[in-house]
Amino acid sequence: MTDKTKTIQSICFECHSRCGVLLEVKDGKLTGVKGDKTHPFSHGYICPKGRAAMEIIYHPERITRPLLRVGKKGNSRFEETSWDNALSVIAGKLLDSREKFGAESVVFGSGTTRGMAPYLNRFLSVFGSPNFMAPSNMSGGPIVVGSAATCGFGLIDPDYAAASCILLWAHNPEASWPGLYMHDIREGLKNGAKLIVIDPRGTNLAKKADHWLQIRPGTDVALSLCFINYIIENNLYDKDFVENWTVGFNRLKAHVAPFTIEKCAEITWIPAKQIKAAAGIFGTAKPACIGPGMGGVCQANDAFDLNRSLTILSAITGNLEVEGGNLNCRPPTGKRSCYGPDYSAYNNLPKEQAKKKLGLDTYPLLEFIPIPSPPQVVWPAILDEKPYPVKALGLFANNSVCAYPNSTRVVQVLEKLDFLFAVDYFHTPTTALADVILPPAHWSERDDVEDLLMKNYVFCQQKAVDPIPECRDEKQILIDLARKMGLFSFWQSVQQTLDYRLEPVSMTFEAFKEKGRYDTPITYKNYEKKGRFRTPTGKVELYADYLNLMGISPLPVFREPAESPVASPNLQEDYPLILTTGGRNLVYYHSSHRNIESLHKKSPDPELQIHPDTARSLDMEEGEWVFLASPRGKVEIKIRYFEDIHPQVVHSPHGYWYGVENGWQRVNINMLTDDQSLCPVTASVPIKALLCRVEKML
Ligand code: SF4
Repeated sequence: MTDKTKTIQSICFECHSRCGVLLEVKDGKLTGVKGDKTHPFSHGYICPKGRAAMEIIYHPERITRPLLRVGKKGNSRFEETSWDNALSVIAGKLLDSREKFGAESVVFGSGTTRGMAPYLNRFLSVFGSPNFMAPSNMSGGPIVVGSAATCGFGLIDPDYAAASCILLWAHNPEASWPGLYMHDIREGLKNGAKLIVIDPRGTNLAKKADHWLQIRPGTDVALSLCFINYIIENNLYDKDFVENWTVGFNRLKAHVAPFTIEKCAEITWIPAKQIKAAAGIFGTAKPACIGPGMGGVCQANDAFDLNRSLTILSAITGNLEVEGGNLNCRPPTGKRSCYGPDYSAYNNLPKEQAKKKLGLDTYPLLEFIPIPSPPQVVWPAILDEKPYPVKALGLFANNSVCAYPNSTRVVQVLEKLDFLFAVDYFHTPTTALADVILPPAHWSERDDVEDLLMKNYVFCQQKAVDPIPECRDEKQILIDLARKMGLFSFWQSVQQTLDYRLEPVSMTFEAFKEKGRYDTPITYKNYEKKGRFRTPTGKVELYADYLNLMGISPLPVFREPAESPVASPNLQEDYPLILTTGGRNLVYYHSSHRNIESLHKKSPDPELQIHPDTARSLDMEEGEWVFLASPRGKVEIKIRYFEDIHPQVVHSPHGYWYGVENGWQRVNINMLTDDQSLCPVTASVPIKALLCRVEKML
């Protein structure tokens, strides 16, 4: 007997745009995915990843049974086991680690896509560990820390549709956040907004821009300080706002004075007249918003200073919390939103235990503006037991080996663990190092709630089909694991987790399913109503005394990247080109989807964007396989002639790997990247500006 096709309204979790989707179901199987035209952000758009949902769920390589390692770690040999046994093994190992080394010796980590942060954090709170690890230090975290340190909220809600000027700073949303941002950007441009793009590469948006500033990678702070200087020098700043709502203007003015247009042109390699024109437009257009790239402004040794300076730029031009500027949206779920304080292990543990959160000793500001522990501060605890030993790690939706800088070191880290369990759809170079692998439900097979980066909305992610046997909703996995471990204060059902999350909007999940979404009105200039910004002085901290007290520069400082033609000329003799990595590709989400045929076909190999003159000078042809080398290693990559990049700069995408046993090291750019020269405030990683050379294969 065949059922009629049912349509379920939901949202897509293949990347963080969270587009609205209509899921078609027949005979208990997902048969179609369409864009939901009623969705307030994506308006019916879906990308190839979203359309590939059926291919992902019913993929023959999907892990569908719990697996236990057989034999040596890393040999990729596993045998099927029951859920009961797999959970017993995990429970035993985690309890054993807590007994011997303290609860903090257990870390749970998550990638960015499956929205597990609240549930993992709550589990850790109940278990007693303050250590939730996520790559926020290289994706969004420095934006939140830099802007919250300056004005009390994260500069993450640009109001593109109502802006007169859109400044995309190291941001290519067409490839990285199409569903969340592109509709509003198009609306803004249709309404006549000027577009300024800061990017070393000529992306589609850069080429359509009124001003594309082709910046030398790693010099963004110098450019932002120059914009501030130009705007102050030319009296383009909002005097009323500066006088009433900021502190430290005169010290800022003196600090940025050396960043003249000419000096900045010399540092950034951008022609002076382009800098002047763009700064002039940003200073005069009202309102204007800044769209910072989640990766673009978060992967540098001065990421904190960059995000401080962008916030200052928005503030002194009077664009904070105004329509068409940079908004301060709050999720309707408030303290129970994805990273809300109600879930935070740090907040829920006794102070003494909370203070053990990895990273707080070296990055003290992160105690006050929390982000998850960066992987790069967890690694020393595993490798060298500093500041204390970490022995067990659980990874959810995370391929650390391919996604994080310095893959060679990441492998050493994972090999050193006493115990690693991974929860993932497919085998990856990371699951290959696991002791236990668990099969999660796909997003279309589970219920959830989403509010992270969703401005003033919370969305219902509604299950369309039952998980294929024996995959499980990850929330249910945590509930089952908690029971095995005797953690009875954890939730008892998935329904309870979702109802708890929705309490601030006075709805159960059952009721929420009927509505599909919930929003609260956007409010402007909240600081006027409250009489203050949420900062130590109550004003925008142009000069921040409190940072000074913590040993952090009170004004944003430009630092040359550790590897650059200026900072390391000797190294440049061997590695003459600047390598910028991490630009996104629409058909993949970071290191995932590489085994999905329809997506792989669209972009089968990693391609090095290189100026044709540079390639020809090295006798390299379009499509030729070459070696790309840095002081840390060498990978294979295909030459792609690209006119819109500086002849001394090359760009490599990230996340490529062909298969667990097919030499992932061969093409994974993170074999070359650095995880040492971190931002001293946010632990951001310097992968946007490194030195490299390209070699012919003999
Ligand atoms: S952009 Fe694509 S993958 Fe991302 S949420 Fe939208 S449809 Fe899904």
